[in-house]
Amino acid sequence: ASRPLVAGNWKMNGMRHAGAELLAMVEGYDSALAARVDLLVCPPATLLAQFAATAAETGIAIGAQDCHSATAGAFTGDLSAEMLADAGASHVIVGHSERRTLHQESDALVKAKVEAAWRAGLVAIVCVGESEAERRSGAALEVVAAQIRGSVPQGARGDRLIVAYEPIWAIGTGLVPTVADVEDMHGTIRRVLGEVSGEAAAMRLLYGGSVKPENCDALLSARDVDGALVGGASLKAADFLAIANIY
Ligand code: 13P
Repeated sequence: ASRPLVAGNWKMNGMRHAGAELLAMVEGYDSALAARVDLLVCPPATLLAQFAATAAETGIAIGAQDCHSATAGAFTGDLSAEMLADAGASHVIVGHSERRTLHQESDALVKAKVEAAWRAGLVAIVCVGESEAERRSGAALEVVAAQIRGSVPQGARGDRLIVAYEPIWAIGTGLVPTVADVEDMHGTIRRVLGEVSGEAAAMRLLYGGSVKPENCDALLSARDVDGALVGGASLKAADFLAIANIY
């Protein structure tokens, strides 16, 4: 129902010369494609300002991969949402499973980061997803519902919240869930979002986890899927554009 969004999460990849890849994306994002789908590229923070300058006026949005919950202060190594906005970001990913797992981020911390993103005028992309063991034990829907209840602040609006469903076992593995499982999960996420927001129907729900040009058609055509959060395949303009071009 919503206009689709294809978002690229570059993770800890990309030196300055990767600007050439962004330029190729800009060239491929012609008016016909731009009429059908939004594109967002989330490079490492070191490249934000450079990418924002390259993407200005092209319709391609630039986002960050994480933020601190505070505005400024004695937090060595961290970046505030205000700083990311100042560098040219319009979006920020929060609660990616790699942050939740490798940096012990809790639902409560993720919620505080969403509030920080909104304070700075950024759109927050909240990531949720179950582990392989949780999927196998039949707990996936309830695990993700609890993550939504814990990570999404009350009063979330469709124009500043995006949710990405990324099953942990599908990230970087080449494995993907069935279309039926994605539809079940996205339906559940939209229903639970309805508990905290009157705008759940208008929120964009992205699928992420091993999205490739070869497999994206079925996943992105699934009910309640409004786009993709792409990792590895977002690093190459040809792959990223091929995914966007299924719309
Ligand atoms: P891959 O597309 O490399 O599986 O990564 C998915 C992801 O984690 C995007 O945030």
